Amino acid sequence: MQFDDADLVLRDPLIDKVLISSGDIQKRIRQLGTEISRDYQDRQPILVCILKGAFVFLADLSRCISVHHEVDFMAISSYHGGTESTGVVKIEKDLKSNITDRDIIIVEDIVDTGLTLNYLLELLETRSPKSIRVCALLDKTSRRIEEVPVTYSGFEIPDEFVIGFGLDYDEKYRNLPFIGVLKP
Ligand code: 5GP
Repeated sequence: MQFDDADLVLRDPLIDKVLISSGDIQKRIRQLGTEISRDYQDRQPILVCILKGAFVFLADLSRCISVHHEVDFMAISSYHGGTESTGVVKIEKDLKSNITDRDIIIVEDIVDTGLTLNYLLELLETRSPKSIRVCALLDKTSRRIEEVPVTYSGFEIPDEFVIGFGLDYDEKYRNLPFIGVLKP
């Protein structure tokens, strides 16, 4: 059963508004998928999904990519239930694949300060991949502390704490089909 974005906002008194609608997200993911398919013709990249936040994005993005590709998962923790970044990144689950000489696309939910991504890029570079690019659904460029290259960027968003489409607040709201903002 599918719910309308507006109905879901009305059902939950803690959600303030829809920032990016489910329709706009799907449209943008199709564009990103087309771009990636074009750039990786005759290659077989590994999409590295950063858990937990990117699992919804990965699932939709993968289905919009027409070239053969693999998926693998890495679980990290950089937030501890609240809304502020600690800058401390812990690897909870590592990749299964050997990425040496492979084309890697890191799939992230959101790039905020860039600390997490910077750490991940440095870590994965030590494994000598052929190439590494980043695909992030959301980008809070105004909050950047570490300059990180984001080749495929879904939406640039303002400095607000967002939830939905895989992104949580205290492990809740990952299931929302849109990107929303909670009430202050
Ligand atoms: P960074 O290291 O770039 O500051 O933060 C990256 C991680 O912080 C993301 O992968 C995500 O887990 C979390 N994060 C940053 N901003 C937000 C936000 O607005 N909402 C949620 N739910 N998580 C965020």
